[in-house]
Amino acid sequence: MNYDVSRRDFCTGALAAGLAAQVGAGTAPKAASPHVPGTGKIGYRVFWTWDNSHNWCETVPGMQDAGIGNPYTKAGEWFERDYKRSVDWCAANGIDAVGCVGLIRDCHGGLDAARRVCAYAREKGVRVYLISGLYTYGGVYYEGDSHWSMDRWFETNRDAIGKHKDGTPLLFFQNGKGGHVKEYVGCPSSDKLNRYVLDSLAWVFTAIPELGGIQMETGDTQVCWCDRCRERRGAGAATEGMSVEDMTAFYPAAVAAVRSVSPDAWIMCETYHHFLDKPCAQLYAADATQRFAEVAKMPKDVFWQWKCDRELRDDTWKPGAELPPILKPFRHMMRAHSGTQWWGGRSAWAADLVRRQCRLSYSSGICGVSMFGECSSYRANSEFNYLALQYFSDHPDAPLSDFARDVMSPRLGGDELAEKWCLYAPWQDEPKRIPEAVRDIARFLPSVRDREARRRWAWLANHLSAFRWNADHFPKGRPHPRYTYVSPLV
Ligand SMILES: [Zn+2]
Repeated sequence: MNYDVSRRDFCTGALAAGLAAQVGAGTAPKAASPHVPGTGKIGYRVFWTWDNSHNWCETVPGMQDAGIGNPYTKAGEWFERDYKRSVDWCAANGIDAVGCVGLIRDCHGGLDAARRVCAYAREKGVRVYLISGLYTYGGVYYEGDSHWSMDRWFETNRDAIGKHKDGTPLLFFQNGKGGHVKEYVGCPSSDKLNRYVLDSLAWVFTAIPELGGIQMETGDTQVCWCDRCRERRGAGAATEGMSVEDMTAFYPAAVAAVRSVSPDAWIMCETYHHFLDKPCAQLYAADATQRFAEVAKMPKDVFWQWKCDRELRDDTWKPGAELPPILKPFRHMMRAHSGTQWWGGRSAWAADLVRRQCRLSYSSGICGVSMFGECSSYRANSEFNYLALQYFSDHPDAPLSDFARDVMSPRLGGDELAEKWCLYAPWQDEPKRIPEAVRDIARFLPSVRDREARRRWAWLANHLSAFRWNADHFPKGRPHPRYTYVSPLV
């Protein structure tokens, strides 16, 4: 979400006009409208995280607030503390699962620590699931001295590494700003690599029986251009940095490998796309069932996972848009990056984006919603974003004002203050207005009796003030510096 969209999204929200009039004029807000119950439920709510920036304990040395492929920079014991604390919150607030990239790293306890986290989550009724690349991102053992660490395996199996168009080894630079890893990307047509991948999936679910599931990815890290891959994908294949052909070719066997060991695992097949994106058009074709016969035979409780950031921003996903017919019998998960370093800013207010994500997902027959869950609930915007995921998946057609009244009001000191939060929180993108918000918070804060409500307001005042402080020094800069993901091929 960029600066302009942030404002527009808020301004199209249900509360905008009324709040502007009420708060701007200093008058008491009107009574909340009667609650409108949701017409149905989205049954699965999950978090998505990287281990290196999963910060559910505050003020810990080595905390990072961005990055992919980063080193883990906290002392290793914080891995368990962070994940167990987020699991506690999920168990108490209706979030079903926490996914983790980098679940198994030697520097934070390796397999044993990962298993303790998964077992702890199961006891609490929450699933911790592995987010793993099949042909990249280190495989199931993200980093360490293990046969199942794909980066290690490639060192002695270099013939399984993919190829650039010029025939050189396919190397992807996970840099962004803060990342450091240069990773080899495998050739999905390599029989040896495919045997290794399937064995690794069976191994990890055997080694961690409490593992709740897996989000598997064929890779958004460029595709292999060797002769076999080029021929397999066909002349009409999309030439983007990921391949729908690779997904449909290799997910069925990977799903079977997981299911052979863990019958109850939640399996999410990442697509990196919205189902309306152009590269997915082939899934709507009349011959899709014949062409993707192995996909059609997959277990129907598998999730196909989509993303909707651009569609929320551009308003191009209309209510009721239909999934590809061949995939309709499956379960579906829709994820977004709202309120993160990728979209809008980390701990930015995103409850109305979450509302739209849930409403549109439900209207399209999607039964799961996913969001980043790396920031602790101490950061009150993040707390409300998470609570919005729970609330609007239960009530996908409810307006934001219902959420403010039912969920925010008890946590902030009343209905009027909840509505003020909805007004003030987006002002991080409008630094000139921030002093007005902070003055008002200072005015009413002494009357807020609840300690936790006071803490949330103090957090918001400090959070907004940081954007004002930045704007004083960089008046022409973006309020939220964009986290630029650059991945030059090397
Ligand atoms: Zn290849």
